[in-house]
Amino acid sequence: MQATENTNDDFLFIDDSDEDDIIDELNGDAWKVLIVDDDPEIHSVTQLALSDLVVLGRRLEYLHAYSGKDACELIEEHDDIVLVLLDVVMETDDAGLNVVKHIREELCREDIRIVLRTGQPGYAPEESVIKDYDINDYKTKTELTRRKLVTTVYAAIRSYQQISTVSQNRKGLEKIIEAAADLLELHSVQAFGQGVLQQLNRLLGDDVCGLFCARGQGIISSADDLSFYILGQQGHSAVIVNQKLETLKNEQISSQVASCFQQKQHSFNDKNVSLYLASGGYRAVIFLELANELTETQQQLIEVFLTNIAIGYENVHLFQKLRNAAYKDWLTELPNRLEFVNLLDQFSNSENQDLVAALVDINHFSDINDGLGQDVGNLLLAAVAKRLSGLSDQCQIARVGADVFGVIGPSEFINPDCLSALFYQPFDAGEQKLPINACIGFCTKEYARLPGVKVLNQINIALNLAKKNREQHCMYYMQEMEDKTLWRLGMIRQLRTDFSEKRLELWYQPQLSLETGKVIGAEALLRWRTADGAFISPEIFIPLAEYSGLIIEIGDWVIHQACLQINTLEEQGFDKVSISVNVSIPQFRRSNFVDNIIETTKAHKVQASKLELEITENILMDEPQVVIDSLLKLKEQGISIALDDFGTGYSSLSYLQKLPFDRLKVDRSFVNDITQPGQSLIADTIINLGKQMNLKVIAEGVEDLAQEAHLKEQGCHEVQGYYYAKPMPEQDFLAFLKENQ
Ligand code: C2E
Ligand code: CA
Ligand code: CA
Repeated sequence: MQATENTNDDFLFIDDSDEDDIIDELNGDAWKVLIVDDDPEIHSVTQLALSDLVVLGRRLEYLHAYSGKDACELIEEHDDIVLVLLDVVMETDDAGLNVVKHIREELCREDIRIVLRTGQPGYAPEESVIKDYDINDYKTKTELTRRKLVTTVYAAIRSYQQISTVSQNRKGLEKIIEAAADLLELHSVQAFGQGVLQQLNRLLGDDVCGLFCARGQGIISSADDLSFYILGQQGHSAVIVNQKLETLKNEQISSQVASCFQQKQHSFNDKNVSLYLASGGYRAVIFLELANELTETQQQLIEVFLTNIAIGYENVHLFQKLRNAAYKDWLTELPNRLEFVNLLDQFSNSENQDLVAALVDINHFSDINDGLGQDVGNLLLAAVAKRLSGLSDQCQIARVGADVFGVIGPSEFINPDCLSALFYQPFDAGEQKLPINACIGFCTKEYARLPGVKVLNQINIALNLAKKNREQHCMYYMQEMEDKTLWRLGMIRQLRTDFSEKRLELWYQPQLSLETGKVIGAEALLRWRTADGAFISPEIFIPLAEYSGLIIEIGDWVIHQACLQINTLEEQGFDKVSISVNVSIPQFRRSNFVDNIIETTKAHKVQASKLELEITENILMDEPQVVIDSLLKLKEQGISIALDDFGTGYSSLSYLQKLPFDRLKVDRSFVNDITQPGQSLIADTIINLGKQMNLKVIAEGVEDLAQEAHLKEQGCHEVQGYYYAKPMPEQDFLAFLKENQ
């Protein structure tokens, strides 16, 4: 059709708007309106008629299309067109309707408003089209006065705005649901705080500058409970995370965050907002600085968002609590053993070759705990933890066991001098000042293996050696140590099998009276002959048996054998010969030790005085009173007791006086040099001491006549040594006795 046909040009010029009641305040943006008409004049008059119109604060901006086809292209190009004023009849009778279909069906643009215009009422579209395609208005051009056009356009744009708000809200809500799901995956409060800020940024589609603040207790180690801490940031620097809010030195932010915490509600200002997040007693404030004031929709969205994520905030706290329970020591609040293993993982993986890891084991902690009570013990541990933590910021401290602390740090701090120095001063534990010391095992980066558990094992090896070493209380891990440990474990395994396969034997070394030259007894000595026939010295395997606890079973067997031997001797007529048996410290520690021995002697019907126990003075180091009581009980039964290796150990003479000994053994090392000029002093003194205490004195390790002569001269009563006989198997010993009757 022709544009001029049936058109009444007047309609566009009748100005019936005498009031500007629909003019709003202006803001920068404009609404894009597409005018589609094959009549150029309609374009200009429409534009002229709407020239001053301001809708919801914005002017109109026009795009022009002169055919349905052009219109479709323009709409595709400009996705910000809000309204199409569309002629129905153009290149074809339904060109306009095709544009409508294109907008709604192909482009799926539900939001664009459409006003249909036609020159002829006969071309009006079906009512169903108007409904199905969401047409805002249908007008014949004759109906459209300026006033009516303005009203129509105004209404259409308003409705566009409502639709777009709703769809924005919908998108916002979708984002919220997504965000809440994402946030639920986070397991640390810091990650959560950071995530919330990122999601708010997405939600507001803006460069939001923000802080996520909460009280630090339970989240940040050693946080004091009154201050606010920054747990997440957006648009600030990452270094402020985990710091106190006050380190920002921004009075305004600090006071707004504090007041939001107090008021327990959001506050929206022009340039910033404080948002209050709370669930299950866990509270946080999110402070945002904004480029533009938030719209009402945005505020609503934020509120919905916060309600949605609150439960997530509670969860993340509960999760952190679980984590703390799993990885933290409740008493000192330090990382626990599990976490220390993780730290050791990092240590092993670290590029820094200067790092050292160590275990610090407090000596005799259980005595303090038992003696002064657990409360004092706990205070002491806390004091040690505090002193270790003060070592340096560059060191990591953990509590690895009851009285064992783990430390990792630069060699400058983690070394024997620095760590020992921490124990020079006593520790405050409540009212008490407790002087304590510690054994320390170290592992340098050079030796550290992967993973962390292995390193822990390495340090433990060094620590165990440090604990056993009397001179050095600090030890560095070295490969040889581990080789030795492995060798030891192998030996212990073999000893256990060989013992159960009866490969252990008891040999006997005669003891003679210096006065009569007669055999008065024998020391029973263990021999281990392995499957391949080799002998392993008791000096090697006895310590292993003691270390592994195997000595208990072996010791019982030895006493049993000794009793059998006493009976055999008696049967063969040697009823004056007694048997001495060596007893180790672990055997003494057993509460039933004494009763067992008494029972065994009774079971074998052995005369108690024929059995002698050789104990070393080191036995007294443990618990002197228990040992004294045990010995007295044995004595009561008539069992004889000899003090072995006298002079080589650590006991005090005052204890010796209290002990019911029958015999004192002068150690081989003192007998060895007895004939060298000036070297006999100790042996002589021991012999004298024994005589004064009314004890029998026996010298062991006598190898020649000269030694014997000296001993005789000093009045030593008995002797034992290679000069007379080496230890020998049972049958040989019987033969020896027969020969030397
Ligand atoms: P010990 O109790 O001091 O035993 C004496 C050691 O000196 C024995 O070594 C013996 O063979 C050795 N000996 C004796 N006379 C001479 C000598 O004239 N010259 C030299 N050079 N050595 C001499 P052995 O049999 O190797 O035993 C070593 C240690 O093993 C014993 O030292 C004892 O502490 C321990 N032991 C041996 N048997 C047992 C046992 O049944 N139970 C326990 N608990 N320990 C045992
Ligand atoms: Ca002995
Ligand atoms: Ca000895």
